[in-house]
Amino acid sequence: MQKMTFRAVVAAVALVASSASAVQAKPADAPVTEADLAAHMRVLASDAFEGRAPGTEGENRTIAYIVGEWAKMGLQPVPGSDTPWLQPVPLIESAAVSGSVQFKVRGRAFPLRGDSIVLTGRDASLALADVPVIFVGYGVDASGKVAADVKGKVAILLSGAVPFGEKMPRYRDRRQMLADAGATAVLVVASDALPWAAVQGSFGSQSTKLAGARPGAPATGFIAAPALQALLTKVGKPAVAALEAARSPDYRGTDLAVTANLSAETDVRPYASHNVIAKLSGAKPDGKAVLFLGHWDHLGICGDEGEADRICNGAVDNASGIAVLTEVAKRLASGPRPDRDIYFMATTAEEKGLLGAYYFADHPVVPLGDITVALNIDTIAISPRGTPVATIGRGHPAYDAVVRKVATDLGRKLDEDGEADAFVQRQDGWALGAKGVVSLMVGGSFSDMPLLEKFLESDYHRAADNFSDSVPLGGAAEDADLHVALGRVFADTQAWPGDGQ
Ligand SMILES: [Zn+2]
Repeated sequence: MQKMTFRAVVAAVALVASSASAVQAKPADAPVTEADLAAHMRVLASDAFEGRAPGTEGENRTIAYIVGEWAKMGLQPVPGSDTPWLQPVPLIESAAVSGSVQFKVRGRAFPLRGDSIVLTGRDASLALADVPVIFVGYGVDASGKVAADVKGKVAILLSGAVPFGEKMPRYRDRRQMLADAGATAVLVVASDALPWAAVQGSFGSQSTKLAGARPGAPATGFIAAPALQALLTKVGKPAVAALEAARSPDYRGTDLAVTANLSAETDVRPYASHNVIAKLSGAKPDGKAVLFLGHWDHLGICGDEGEADRICNGAVDNASGIAVLTEVAKRLASGPRPDRDIYFMATTAEEKGLLGAYYFADHPVVPLGDITVALNIDTIAISPRGTPVATIGRGHPAYDAVVRKVATDLGRKLDEDGEADAFVQRQDGWALGAKGVVSLMVGGSFSDMPLLEKFLESDYHRAADNFSDSVPLGGAAEDADLHVALGRVFADTQAWPGDGQ
């Protein structure tokens, strides 16, 4: 060691003093441990929570737990909310009880052979007679719009990819467009890609929509391809020629000189579920905000009666994410207060199609334009410590640079091969991204594909997604630390000006 001059000693002492005070001013956040996460997951994924299905006692317990923990961690309800901590999300659940279609050709009944149609009503009860039938081919013309006159008719729609034009809507979207154009019913023709057995098997299963979603046609259903063929032949329009005509970009549909009597009974249950939303007020708010989110819901009681374990407890999907959100909230609320406001949201009905996230995107508690980044946390207990960090939603260079720097500073490696991108539409961030919010899902779970696929092919969405000591929490704990650090940077008005420059 070299001998120091007096001036060097003074400088060194000053340096030590200033770095010590810097350390004092900004104590490092306590690392999140496996035990921290396990404590939450054990509760949320317990049988008492019944698999956390929206609209059940399991929901009540789940939101009570989350609100209790978040309040304890130092978060607050969003000021001015009529329903503190909660954002009601109006949903409509429906399940077909019965449905039938009887065709008439020139006024005479034309019975189809065997089971060849399933029909589901939109409302509780439907009974309509003598509705005209039109074959609409793919349902759209070259401009991608509905060209046929379907108002008040039963429209029979081909499900395959539109054979002309670019970026044409998929059949579900075309079905909705026909409903918007006034079709009384839309019958989608089964195909190799949409097998008859599968559509028949799904009859009567529950589906859930946002109450404010565009209504579908009064009836929707499926028809087997041979039944359509028989119908076309009966009215003198050979199927081969009709299918060929439908391939034309200016096909406008063929009225079939067929009418249909429709009837359907449907269980329709409107109810409200809830997003849990909390705020950590910033020390120097500048109008920008950071949003952390993860879905609280799972599949509820999913097994058949008589099975030993009927509860889909959703330990990994997504009790793990709520556990991480909660521990991140604790660190950010108890350490030095970040400059910007930070919102925490536990969404509902992700498993039903990101419905809670879509509802928030339409009814945000903070203007979406003020959210500088949304960080979604889903299915995070997959990988061990040391797993590289992948990001779903990359492509914004300034944001990508922050993730890279923060992860590297924590000693994490990066996985930038892009494989994680395949999951972008399967997570809540997608609903916010669709409205222009930069939404990232960062962590190790979507980095090691063999590990992830092993989970997806085994416990995922099954009763086996239970909490136990064998659920890997090392990677989740590390990812939680990463989110604390990301929250600190994105909420820092100096380090991140907030406009994604
Ligand atoms: Zn899921």
